[in-house]
Amino acid sequence: MKNLIPTFLFLFVVCMEGLAQNHKKALVGGTLIDGYGGLPIKNSVILIEGEYIKEVGSLATLEVPKDYTIISTEGMSVLPGLWDMHVHTMINGHADYSYWDKTYPPLLKDVIMPASAEQLLLAGVTSARDLGGPLEESIAVRDAINEGSIPGATLYVSGPFIQHSPYPGTEDFRWGVNGADDGRKKIKKLAKAGVDVIKLIDQDKMTMEEVKAIVDEAHKHNLKVVAHAHRPEEIRRALMAGADCFEHTGLSSAPSYPDDIMQMIKERTADMSQGPLYWCPTVEGLYNYEYLRDNQEELDNDSWHRGLPDSVITDIKNSFAHPDRLPYFQLTPSRKPTLETKVKQLLDAGVVLLIGTDSGIPMKFHSQSTWHEFDVWVNKFGIDPMYAIRAATYWPALWTGVADKVGTVTPGKYADIIAVKGDVLRHINILQDVDIVLKKGKQYK
Ligand SMILES: [Zn+2]
Repeated sequence: MKNLIPTFLFLFVVCMEGLAQNHKKALVGGTLIDGYGGLPIKNSVILIEGEYIKEVGSLATLEVPKDYTIISTEGMSVLPGLWDMHVHTMINGHADYSYWDKTYPPLLKDVIMPASAEQLLLAGVTSARDLGGPLEESIAVRDAINEGSIPGATLYVSGPFIQHSPYPGTEDFRWGVNGADDGRKKIKKLAKAGVDVIKLIDQDKMTMEEVKAIVDEAHKHNLKVVAHAHRPEEIRRALMAGADCFEHTGLSSAPSYPDDIMQMIKERTADMSQGPLYWCPTVEGLYNYEYLRDNQEELDNDSWHRGLPDSVITDIKNSFAHPDRLPYFQLTPSRKPTLETKVKQLLDAGVVLLIGTDSGIPMKFHSQSTWHEFDVWVNKFGIDPMYAIRAATYWPALWTGVADKVGTVTPGKYADIIAVKGDVLRHINILQDVDIVLKKGKQYK
């Protein structure tokens, strides 16, 4: 008993020191884009206490109390932590899916998915929607990040894809549906396991009764449905059934969305009672393929190695030794010229676009995809940079139902904040190397 007291005192002192270091921070001096879309705040001051934002102002209006540790953001753009609304943490850029799915399931939970989540975080992505993965692993990795036992972006996971039938060898992360009752049963199982969203794919191969049952059951459990939107009938069915978000620009190399689909989309965006229609076009992987094929230096950027064993890195590298020969990208050059038209059609129809990337697909890494998507939107398609930033902050948080906690730099919300040297509204590409990453008040970069 005698010896316990000094030990206790020692621990107490260590803890208090830790608190003093981590508890109160002030981000001071940078230009703040808070996520609401209005004019940026120059010479901003953000006071952070523990996990939360306490006050937001400027050097002229808000004094930094003496007990705050000052982190200078002079010369930087400061913005809410980014969201990527379409990632696949279970893959890391390997070009051969059937090989990957046979070889790496034992490493998914402890190595692959945590590495992806950490790479996202260090790229400034503090939250991500993970659309398709094995159930137990997806939940375990999400929870480990939320508990703070491993570093990573806050994940909102779907667990397994819900579809007509799994492709051979993918049964662990693709669940087939056989009849409306079976669809409801599968959704109940996912809801009970605690997934955050439902990922629906190949719904054009299902009966309409199945699609409706899945969406209805998901909504009963307060789960939103994210629908694959590659083929025309996938889009029609998902719109008819009331899916909550649509993925990819789709329609392969066809030049544009057909009139009847545009008509359905406009009917939907005209109905304010249903809220905005959200779409995550995931263009960068397709748009940049030919450039990457011919300019491979970026593949040597080692940001995507983080958290992966050397053997896995070598394996991934070998898989794209010949980027020009990959079957995955066969049709991509024909699809590329159609992307801008389709994105513009959606924008003109009043759809709310979200930043999402499909990161993890062949040659596409979690450490790089998100800023690439920004680059294509802003520098190639001419989308307003403020729109793009809100598509990766404000809107994703609202869609996910966590706008009271994240998505903007606002007092009372989690301190998920990034900062990057330069003017991000003038040069969006500076997002490729963010200088400061805070998640729930903790500085990771
Ligand atoms: Zn995807």
